[in-house]
Amino acid sequence: QWTGLNELREKYLHFFETKGHLRLGSFPLVPKDDPSLLLINSGMAPMKKWFLGQEEPPRHRVTTCQKCIRTPDIERVGITARHGTFFEMLGNFSFQDYFKEEVIPWAWEFLTKELEIPADKLYISVYLDDDEAYDIWTKKVGIPEDHMVRFGKEDNFWEHGSGPCGPCSEIYYDRGPEHGCGKPTCKVGCDCDRYMEIWNLVFSQFDSDGKGHYERLPRPNIDTGMGLERLACVMQDVGNLFEVDTVASVLHHVERISGKHYGDSEKDDISIRVITDHIRSTVFMVSDGILPSNEGRGYVLRRLLRRAARHGRMLGIDRPFLTELVDTVIESSEAGYPELREHESYIKKVVGTEEERFGRTIDAGLNILNNMIDERKAAGETVLSGSEVFKLNDTFGFPLDLTKEIAAEAGFTVDEEAFHAEMTKQRERARAERLAKDISGWSADLFGELAAEPTQFDGYETLHETAKVQ
Ligand code: ATP
Ligand code: MG
Ligand code: MG
Ligand code: MG
Repeated sequence: QWTGLNELREKYLHFFETKGHLRLGSFPLVPKDDPSLLLINSGMAPMKKWFLGQEEPPRHRVTTCQKCIRTPDIERVGITARHGTFFEMLGNFSFQDYFKEEVIPWAWEFLTKELEIPADKLYISVYLDDDEAYDIWTKKVGIPEDHMVRFGKEDNFWEHGSGPCGPCSEIYYDRGPEHGCGKPTCKVGCDCDRYMEIWNLVFSQFDSDGKGHYERLPRPNIDTGMGLERLACVMQDVGNLFEVDTVASVLHHVERISGKHYGDSEKDDISIRVITDHIRSTVFMVSDGILPSNEGRGYVLRRLLRRAARHGRMLGIDRPFLTELVDTVIESSEAGYPELREHESYIKKVVGTEEERFGRTIDAGLNILNNMIDERKAAGETVLSGSEVFKLNDTFGFPLDLTKEIAAEAGFTVDEEAFHAEMTKQRERARAERLAKDISGWSADLFGELAAEPTQFDGYETLHETAKVQ
């Protein structure tokens, strides 16, 4: 039955409240006291201390809907039906409280009773030797054996960096053969979009040092994660994440700006989806206090924005347009994230400034890059030199990853080592100059003192300070 994304979020959080969970708001995208992580990429990431028993949680059962950024998925965005760099993750968590016996039947109840998803569309994976989870699924819940699979560490052992981790059990939804790769080998776990993973139940019972050593935790935890857009994709029976109600309003705005009709050309559709995704990530990141820069989180943001700008060019948009999209992102997401509206003018200012900076040089840079590639190709070469790529970065503002991507589309690679050597040289030059002139950094002139160190963000307090500066 069709259900809007906002309503689904509410249903989930409410369901777990009835199971004794405390509902908390999303944590900011910038991790607090966790140098192992650049950006929050899951619901459990901001709660590591509660899992490890290093801090007392407000309750031993918590439920959240967490904003997440996953840049490692960037190349898949717009191509697969199910990956965004930004998405919301629903989660219910047990800190040394309930375990497999409880969480598995609850997950099943939510999907098949509360949302009435037909049971025969769902498939379950468990970790190789996790007979305990297998038995709960088959005996207690009643899943037939032919809807059960066992996967190895790659898929069914959840760990990201150091910290709490453990075997997991994933729930897949069969979207039907028309969404699949059609290969005879296609089955649950295939990387195509037929069997879409919607929910991951992690039985987090170890503490990993990130180097292969696992300490069994005295009392195990539960950590679950379900992509809200993926769930909405199922409930709304649409082709991919970008066609889900709230996200689609951004997609339609990209259509209007570009004059392209979504569905006419796969190549244009990919660009439309990429822009839709990247402007969403951007708005949420800027709202959480991240500013474009050349390193760390700021680099991720800059790369997303400039990649979106380039896809705009590919659609034939020849004017700044990203700032206009900010309105639609805020409109479609403010129900869940009222802070977006609060930061509206600030977000527009940051996006506008960055877009303008790149807008001045993007066409010249693209021309140079394309000519470079053509010349090299004519000479039978397939590598762009470090100094060329450096010049694109330095003079035209092309982040390395963007150049790499464009080069790869033409079958080229980039001499990265030489590029980094050029960067180091330039950094040293800049440092010397800065010392000579005694100025504090490139962004200081733009956003004042607070922005001078964009990576030193410590939560909402600073954010409000930043917002007030406007
Ligand atoms: P996949 O195998 O499809 O890439 P995953 O195994 O990497 O997903 P998990 O790390 O288990 O995903 O995250 C928990 C849930 O978050 C997933 O089951 C999925 O619903 C959602 N999710 C993960 N990555 C993304 C993404 N890039 N975009 C949207 N939703 C995502
Ligand atoms: Mg993944
Ligand atoms: Mg997976
Ligand atoms: Mg998973």
